[in-house]
Amino acid sequence: MKSTASLGISRSQFDAVIFDLDGVVTESAVKWIGALRAAGFKTAIVSSSKNCRRILVEARIGDLFDAQVDGLDSDEIGLDGKPAPDIFLEAARRLGVDPGRAAVIDHATSGVEAGRRGGFKLVIGVDRAGQAQRLKEMGADQVVRDLSDIPIGAESETPDSSDLPSALEHLDNLAALMKRRRTAVFLDYDGTLTPIVERPEDAYLPDLTRLSVERLARHCTVAVVSGRDLPDLRQRVDLDHITYAGSHGFDIKGPDGVEMQNEEGVKFLPILDRAERRLRELTSSVPGAQVERKKFSVAVHYRRVDLSRAREVASYVHEVAGQFEGLQQSEGKKVFELQPKVDWHKGKAVLWLLKALGLNHEGVVPIYIGDDTTDENAFRSLRDHGIGIVVEEGARMTSAQYVLRDTEQVREFIDRLAALLEGERT
Ligand SMILES: [Mg+2]
Repeated sequence: MKSTASLGISRSQFDAVIFDLDGVVTESAVKWIGALRAAGFKTAIVSSSKNCRRILVEARIGDLFDAQVDGLDSDEIGLDGKPAPDIFLEAARRLGVDPGRAAVIDHATSGVEAGRRGGFKLVIGVDRAGQAQRLKEMGADQVVRDLSDIPIGAESETPDSSDLPSALEHLDNLAALMKRRRTAVFLDYDGTLTPIVERPEDAYLPDLTRLSVERLARHCTVAVVSGRDLPDLRQRVDLDHITYAGSHGFDIKGPDGVEMQNEEGVKFLPILDRAERRLRELTSSVPGAQVERKKFSVAVHYRRVDLSRAREVASYVHEVAGQFEGLQQSEGKKVFELQPKVDWHKGKAVLWLLKALGLNHEGVVPIYIGDDTTDENAFRSLRDHGIGIVVEEGARMTSAQYVLRDTEQVREFIDRLAALLEGERT
């Protein structure tokens, strides 16, 4: 376990870190940025290069950043190059953070100067060419040789998922925590209840899993929280007495009249229609690219696209994101998604649901199980009063406290949890 540190970047003082593209495409940098994100920081990347997006896709690190500003953006909106602070300020604006709560990390003296001129709280120079003194002269608060030299002072530890205890092997711990308290279980769908498949429409819920979820729902509140549309999700899960949160929580419906559509999101529906049409036009020439319109987003799947053309898909999505005001781009497993730029996500939806169901108090233990980056928001939202369980076969930085290796383990966990709750009743 990593300890919290007072030096470096701490959540109490910073909301975001903005990087220059040069220097982030190394193994140790990727690991460090992952840790930063798991600790709850927003991240952005800036570059004067017009190939920034392609480089990120090729290095498979596009999903490490919440916002990007590249050479194409600079041309389009007329940003001055470094040492003018424009590109960093635009990145902060896109992240929705104040420069006074953000750090800039750059390897070049012009970047350090730009960060200084932008009024950023902390400017860190990365010295790769023996120019530490020069970076300091230009205004760097700190100079490091490698990003991993910068301590991340998180409010809580952010371990690698491979270090986490198994939720199955530590069911006793959970049982102790749940004793004399109620439980609410939130489940992601794809990759959690069903294995990831080539085509999203082929992800059917196994009958055995449906029976386990049904059994659990007899003893506690159960909600399925997914990026899928609400009607699609309900049809696939096909259980009456549970709550459904579709479209990453923009669209919620439960058995006891609990219902919510994010009003801000509703305003974006005409824009999403236009973005969808444009994306269909652009991607029609790329074999395997699949545009999926959901109510509150447009997804572009590239799992079946040849690797050599994946960057083309990325550039189309980026182009459309830039064309339509108010849409933001996110990434999941082999999918890009355009969503309304609204401060809402699975974590906020889960907190909303707990309140709507009268379950937002000490007498309830919420458990959230999910596999994707969008689920990390929920893990963080529940960090102080619930249990996050990440579904991950490999290793990744996560804010969850427990791990399950695959969907089969998820089913077994749900079943054993149901048995535990049944035992308590008898
Ligand atoms: Mg998932």
